[in-house]
Order: sequence, then structure tokens, then C-alpha cells
Amino acid sequence: VLLALYLAAADAEYLLYKDSTQLVGHRIKDLMGRMTLQEKIGQMVQIDRAVASADVMKNYFIGSVLSGGGSVPAQKASPGTWIKMLNEYQTGALSTRLGIPMIYGVDAVHGHNNVYNATIFPHNIGLGATSDLDGSCFREPELVKRIGVATALEVRATGMSYAFAPCVAVCRDPRWGRCYESYSEDPEIVNAMTELVPGLQGDIPANYPKGIPYVPGKTNVAACAKHFAGDGGTANGINADNAILDWDGLVKIHMPGYISSITKGVATVMISYSSWNSIKMHAHKEMITGYLKGALRFRGFVISDWQGIDLITSPSHANYTYSVEKAIAAGVDMAMVPYNYTEYINELTQLVNNGAVPMSRIDDAVRRILRVKFVMGLFENPMADESLVNELDSQEHRELAREAVRKSLVLLKNGKDSNQPMLPLSTKAPKILVAGSHADNLGYQCGGWSIEWQGFSGNDRTSGTTILSAIKMAVDPSTEVVYQENPAADYVKSDSFSYAIVVVGEHPYAETAGDSNNLTIPNPGPSIIQNVCGTMKCVVVLISGRPVVIEPYMDSMDALIAAWLPGSEGQGVTDVLFGDYGFTGKLPRTWFKRVDQLPMNVGDENYDPLFPFGFGLTTEPVKVN
Ligand code: BGC
Repeated sequence: VLLALYLAAADAEYLLYKDSTQLVGHRIKDLMGRMTLQEKIGQMVQIDRAVASADVMKNYFIGSVLSGGGSVPAQKASPGTWIKMLNEYQTGALSTRLGIPMIYGVDAVHGHNNVYNATIFPHNIGLGATSDLDGSCFREPELVKRIGVATALEVRATGMSYAFAPCVAVCRDPRWGRCYESYSEDPEIVNAMTELVPGLQGDIPANYPKGIPYVPGKTNVAACAKHFAGDGGTANGINADNAILDWDGLVKIHMPGYISSITKGVATVMISYSSWNSIKMHAHKEMITGYLKGALRFRGFVISDWQGIDLITSPSHANYTYSVEKAIAAGVDMAMVPYNYTEYINELTQLVNNGAVPMSRIDDAVRRILRVKFVMGLFENPMADESLVNELDSQEHRELAREAVRKSLVLLKNGKDSNQPMLPLSTKAPKILVAGSHADNLGYQCGGWSIEWQGFSGNDRTSGTTILSAIKMAVDPSTEVVYQENPAADYVKSDSFSYAIVVVGEHPYAETAGDSNNLTIPNPGPSIIQNVCGTMKCVVVLISGRPVVIEPYMDSMDALIAAWLPGSEGQGVTDVLFGDYGFTGKLPRTWFKRVDQLPMNVGDENYDPLFPFGFGLTTEPVKVN
């Protein structure tokens, strides 16, 4: 028997690239030496799951698939459903001549947020507000790292291996609809928060070569620093528009997050839809090839944004040959969802055949993509690890999210008279009023990029604890909690409430849909504040992805908490509201008075905010009777 086995093994061709004992560089070289142009170009394509199948993977040698926005296999899909789907695509990829595994990407930007029952962490703006316990040190990168570890586990639990995070945008104008995806207006904070990279990917060893992606384990996922670069610096905060600034401004404000992500071994970088001084970033050779791959020595792969290549022309897709040539020449390695992937493959093939795109450029792209796949061990472990399934909906991750929520809250006002603070609240008040549409709405609490691209409304799309449920759990059994979504002033007056908790704010949005020129609290938020706070003692919990116009209501409120978009764990809010923990969060952004002041960032001349960058009152953790 042994002899038979030996002969069979000796008979099979030795494939160096499949030998995990070989150096990654040698494996890449060996594999690339065997690949046809068609196989190489296939690696450079990422398609949405909506058009993916085992056959498509196989026939076009597709290198990657994603779930864009809320592109899920089914509503409330279980981890098993995801795994089955992913394994089907992977089987297709592996059944090709060379058996190169695909890599599956997802927007896990605040936890594994597309997936039913995953823990949803606060959006980045809230994490940018966390500070250490005595409040002296702004920000808490170590917490963000732990969130990265938890997110990677949940992403892997559904068989995926690539997360489009961290967003290292430095939002300089809150009118931008993606402001909540940015940790701060301050590049220093964004820089510190790139600890998400080692959280997702693993800690880079000492002396690891600079710029080489590092994703060692089966519980790590490839990260993606996005959107390169200047996405948060567009004029008037218009999404995907033009950032007008000099080289110094671009480098000092928008680059630190990339530089530290690369130092930490980030596997991929995503290009921004926006332009820098009117040149589309997707076509910017000096920035992608010259600066990112050259000066910064980034050795992972560069991915376009969703149809970002098509959008090089306006209207989108107007001159596709030109766009593909421009983007590839600029240094884009993988095309996320080309408008039509077969057309993209044909265009690129022709561009190579007629000499417009040199083969060396294709080889550079494929080498980078394969490097990530080899480094990650995808050739050895291409299929989902089903033993991780219980990582989803774990108590430990929910506790971590709760901790993040309580550290992210910023106390902006505490009592009309500073000698008489309103918070913490008593858990033993006889009767309290909870008002506002955001008090009992998990979707509002989570914001955009939650289950759906644009977020959701209500409580039935995934699991978690609303602020109202958390209040009911936090108070003494003797306390009566009355919930009125939109109470009239007369009603508030007529009843004998001890105090009121008003939870109002923005409704979910993502990307351009969130661009706003007025930044007002949507109706009926303002009238709820008026009706309740104008009548009785109240604390307002504001749910929003950015500072909003609040000055007109300041006098009526007894206390005000900026809770950002806290995610699935409402108990993080009640932990501090009722004094189990103190308030420690600090504003990661300037809070303006009026929109006509925008843009206004810390350090600007004529800085005249309602609350300055870094502001945040503190309370002691004390229980009040
Ligand atoms: C966004 C990216 C995101 C991608 C995939 C794009 O619209 O700009 O941030 O990663 O979609 O969903």
C-alpha cells in the first residue's frame, strides 16, 4: 500500500505554487509563469454576488466576489446560508485549471453589519469620541483594535475573508453624507484608529518588511484602507466630488491614515470616487503608482470603488476603453464591479493585445492580488471554517459593543445650573417618560450600512437592544416607564413624571443620500424636544452621524448627550445615563452653531463653535437614589 501511495504521489506533477513551505515570492513567480492573459485579467475582476455563480467564476477566472451594500443571499440569512453560497463560488474558482481561490469582500464597517444577528458596533464617529477612563487621553485605539478582532471573527464565521474597512477618511465638513464613517476631523485621531488594521489582520511582527500585507491566521481578514485619498475633503462636503487643496494639505490632513495602515501591513487600499484638484483619483497615476505604490511602498493591491472606473468619464461609462486604460495605467489592480464584467474583460484584453496597456502593468496587478491570497493562506484554506459559526451573536462581542457605546457618548450639557447636575439619573424614580421615535428603533440606532446599504427602520431586521428596552432593564422594578413617541405638551404637563428621556435624531442614510446643506434635526424631533423639554425636566439623547443644528434648543434642555450612531447595544447608553459608568467621551469634531460657519475645523481662524473639538463633560460613576 505504501509503495502504491508513493508511486501515485511521485506521479502527480509537483506544483511549486501549491507548496506552502515555499516562499511567497517563489510561489507567485511559479504561478504567474503558468497563467494565460485571460487567467490574469480574471484575477483583476471583483463581481457582485448578484451576478456570481460557480460557472461564472470558472468561465471567467474571476478573482473576487463581494456583497456590496446590503447584497445578501436572503433576508435574515443564517451563517450557514452565507457559507453555502460562498463555498459554491469558491468551488467554481478552484475548479479552474490552476485552481486559484477567490477572495470574498464585504462592507463590515461597524461589525459584520450586513449580516442578521451580527453585533453592530458604533459607527466610526462614535469610536473617535472614545477616550481613556480619566478622559485625559483622547481616543481609545486599543478598543478599536479589539473591535477589529471581533469583527474579523464574525466575518470569518460566514466564510468571508476581506473587509472594506477601515475608512480612514478625515471628514472636514459634516455636510458630507459619509461623515459618520470618519473617526474625526483631526488626522491624528484617524491615524491612531488604524489600530483596526492589526485588529482585523493580526499584529505585524517586528522587522516584517515594510508595505507587505500581513494577514496570518484563519481568524483574520484582509483589511482595506479607504478611500484614497481626500474623500473627506471635498468642497462643501459634496460626496465623491472635488477636493481642492495643495499638496501639503493633502498629505498632512488626508495621508496619515494610509501611512500608518501601510506600516501595519494593510492588505488593500480602495480608491476614492472623488477628484483631487479636478483629477479623478481613479485616473491619478502620480498618486496611485507614484505616491502610494512608490513613495509609500505599498505592496498589497489597489481596488477601485464600485464602478469607480466607469465613473472616470461623465456620464459614467461614456468612453469605456478610455476609462479602463486610464485606471489600469494609473495603477488600479482590481476593478470592483465593472459596469459589465465581460465588457471590462474584453476591453482590457484588447488594450493589452494592442499594446496600450503593457503586460508589465497586468503582471504588477496580478502579483499584488496573488500576494494577498498567498499571505492569507487562501490556497491552503479556501473554504469556510464552519467551527466559527458561534462567533456570530456572541455575548462577548455584544459586551464589547456595549463598552464601546458607553465610552463613545459625549455629554454636552448637564443641568441648567452647573451646581445642579441632572445626570446620572436615578433608577428609582416613580414614573419616567421616554419620548421620541429614536427611543425604540434599532434601525435608527444603527444608521446607514446596517443590514441595508441605506440602513433600516424598526426592530425586526436584526437583533439588539433599543434604548427604550435598555431603560426598562436598567430601572428599578418599581419604576413605571411610559413610552410616547410624540407626546403633546398638555399630556406631558398633566401627568406626574419625575423626568423625561427624549431620544431624537437623524434617520439612516449612506453616501450621497446623506449629503445635507441644512443639518437640521428631522421632524418631528424639534417639536418633541419643544413639547417635552419646554414642559418638564428632560435629558435629550441625540442619535446622529454628525453634529447637527442644536443651538436653538439648548436652553430648553436640562441635559444633552451626543450618542452618534451607537449600533445594536442600547445598554451602553443606559450604563452611563444611570451612573454605572461615568461619561468620558470627547468631541472628535467641532460642533458648529450655524451651517453658514461650515467648513469649520479645529485650528481654523475665526473658530467660533457651539462646542469646541475635544469638548465633553464628565460624571462620576455613582448610583443615585
Ligand atoms: C462605497 C465603498 C464600499 C463599496 C462596496 C461604494 O459605494 O463607496 O465604501 O466599500 O461601495 O459596497
